[in-house]
Amino acid sequence: MLRGALGKLSLRQKLTILVLVGVLLPLSVLTYMQYRSLAALQNTTKGAFKDNLRQGLTIVEQQMKKRLENIAAQTLNPIGNMQLSSPDAAAELEKYFANVKRSHPEIEDIFVLRSSGDHQISFTVFEQSRTAQSFLDDNRKYLFAEGKYLFYPLPDPTKGGGVAGVLLNERFVNQDLVAGTITRALNLYHANHASPPIAITVSDENNHVLYSNVAAKNEVLLETNLDRPFSSWKAQIGLQDTSLDALARDSFLRSAGAALLVLIILLSGIVLTIRATDREARLAQAKSNFVSNVSHELKTPLSLISLFSEILELGRVNNEEKKTEYYRIIRHESRRLNKTIDNILDFSRIEAGRKTYEFVKADMAEVIENVLSTHRYQFVNSGFDVQTNIPRDLPPVFIDRDAIAQAISNLLDNAIKYSRTVKQISITAERRDAEVAIDIADRGIGIPRAEQAKIFEKFYRVGNGLVHDVKGSGLGLSLVKHIVEAHQGTISVESDVGVGTRFTILLPLEKSS
Ligand code: ADP
Repeated sequence: MLRGALGKLSLRQKLTILVLVGVLLPLSVLTYMQYRSLAALQNTTKGAFKDNLRQGLTIVEQQMKKRLENIAAQTLNPIGNMQLSSPDAAAELEKYFANVKRSHPEIEDIFVLRSSGDHQISFTVFEQSRTAQSFLDDNRKYLFAEGKYLFYPLPDPTKGGGVAGVLLNERFVNQDLVAGTITRALNLYHANHASPPIAITVSDENNHVLYSNVAAKNEVLLETNLDRPFSSWKAQIGLQDTSLDALARDSFLRSAGAALLVLIILLSGIVLTIRATDREARLAQAKSNFVSNVSHELKTPLSLISLFSEILELGRVNNEEKKTEYYRIIRHESRRLNKTIDNILDFSRIEAGRKTYEFVKADMAEVIENVLSTHRYQFVNSGFDVQTNIPRDLPPVFIDRDAIAQAISNLLDNAIKYSRTVKQISITAERRDAEVAIDIADRGIGIPRAEQAKIFEKFYRVGNGLVHDVKGSGLGLSLVKHIVEAHQGTISVESDVGVGTRFTILLPLEKSS
């Protein structure tokens, strides 16, 4: 039953159903799935962004540690090699301390603590940082405490030492160590990531702000304590002037837009394919109609010619007038035959790209008159009222006379073929600026508006030859168009069903090539 129903549909309808079921349906499912995965990606992107921030923070911490480790190695390490129990040790140390302070402006103070009684406060801080394992380096040599102390337990306390330490000045810690490292890391981050500006605030355990570029406008994306030895510091990271949701939405919209674009391109491709296939199918159908139409076109004049020549040959016609009439029919039918064959041959030359034109300077009025005279018998015989308005003083045109005559003749044949009760044809020619216009109008059956563009296609016949009973090959107008265009001219049609049809050929007076 389904097969029966499908069989009744036109090729275009079948293709449309095929596209709907076979392409659009899976495409819609795919689009929906993509929408879902884009929405899921939106959340993943958020997570990935936070991970990125966390990584960035770790890098900042490592750089700060490295910086402090270098300072400790340069200033505290040499103390470990000094003979602190020797008598000159105190003087040597004083000299060393002065030296260090001179060459390290970031150091506020440098000292050695030999016992817990020495420098009560610093020693307590040292002990606390050691218990908290606030080591600066992988070798666990240096400690960092309270955001300003660097300690170095002297290797051998028997040599008279205990702990060496430096006190860093506050400006260095804030502006150089924290702000400098973060700014460098931010610059590097923005140079490598297409991310909106990031807002960071670092504060110590008393909520005293150590660094802040700008407050985050929306939510804080990452709030965490830094790793040891900076674990008493807290970082808050967000975005300066947008939110992650807005960012994710933007990126979602961009991806969805791209998917939509692909969809539109795909659909346009499908529509174009359907149209091309439809056109091919129409052409194939038209070709098969052509064969049956053209055989009829050839057979009708041939049988008339053989019929009347046989009657004449038998000598049964005594009436001279009748005889002349029969001769005329034979001549007319052979001319018609000739024309059909000419059209077919010309068409095959055009298709093979072998059609050539010989342009000569010609008088258009004369060319039209000649064509009219060859159609006179037909006009009179079929009872047509033919109006002509062809001024004698038309400027000469550069044309292939035979080709233009063939074009006009094809249009006149159609005017005759497609007229019913009102048999009126008018032919006018006139100069319009730099062109000559030739107008051929009839008051015949007319051409539906939707078909008007197609009638110039090869093999095309309105209603595919099934609706109207007039036989034809469907080549006439396609030849006319080819000829006119070879002259760099144009052909247009105005028509109303039941009212009539007017074809207008415009040919340039000067041929440009
Ligand atoms: P055909 O051999 O069928 O006449 P043409 O290429 O000359 O082929 O014309 C194509 C179709 O255009 C015709 O089949 C006919 O339907 C339509 N047509 C052409 N000229 C006229 C006209 N003067 N009046 C009405 N229909 C026309």
